[in-house]
Amino acid sequence: MSKPLSAYNAKRDFRKTAEPRGKRAAGAGNSFVVQKHAASRLHYDFRLELHGVLKSWAVAKGPSLVAGEKRLAVHVEDHPLDYGGFEGTIPKGQYGGGTVLLWDRGTWEPEGDPHKAYAKGHLNFRLEGEKLGGAWHLVRMRQRPQDRNEQWLLIKSDDEFARSADEPDILEELPLSVATGRDLDGIASDKASKTWNSNRED
Ligand code: MN
Repeated sequence: MSKPLSAYNAKRDFRKTAEPRGKRAAGAGNSFVVQKHAASRLHYDFRLELHGVLKSWAVAKGPSLVAGEKRLAVHVEDHPLDYGGFEGTIPKGQYGGGTVLLWDRGTWEPEGDPHKAYAKGHLNFRLEGEKLGGAWHLVRMRQRPQDRNEQWLLIKSDDEFARSADEPDILEELPLSVATGRDLDGIASDKASKTWNSNRED
């Protein structure tokens, strides 16, 4: 078995990027975070704490509160827990170069055993964030030969947190950082842009 976070560490030059070095944390927390990431393409990184790391998916269109709407979530390498507090700019030319905005954070609560559910490729869970809430699913699709990464779907369940398609899109309604209230341009233009906001209650 490969070392935890080895894929994460191998992709990054920590002399050049302010992102945290990856090491597995002790303890069993249940944080989640969504980071809006203006890299070569804008996407939202959806991360759930499991086993001392952040299990991570890149959601091109971002989460939708419309019940049943499927958002493609490409599974990417585990990230360190510290990453959940990262907001700032990854230098050009580095992996994921661009601006990272802390779009949402909070806790998640799996239904049943999350390790089994993750291995099975079907997680049912609740989110308690500043923007996202209620019941959600993450479902792994059948792997096709051309897929380099696992393709999952992020889907909102129908409950009191769900919206209908004619209600406002949460991504447009609440676009700013939950940590600093800034937008992407505000973070990108901040020369000292490297803010460490604890993802935990402080
Ligand atoms: Mn990303």
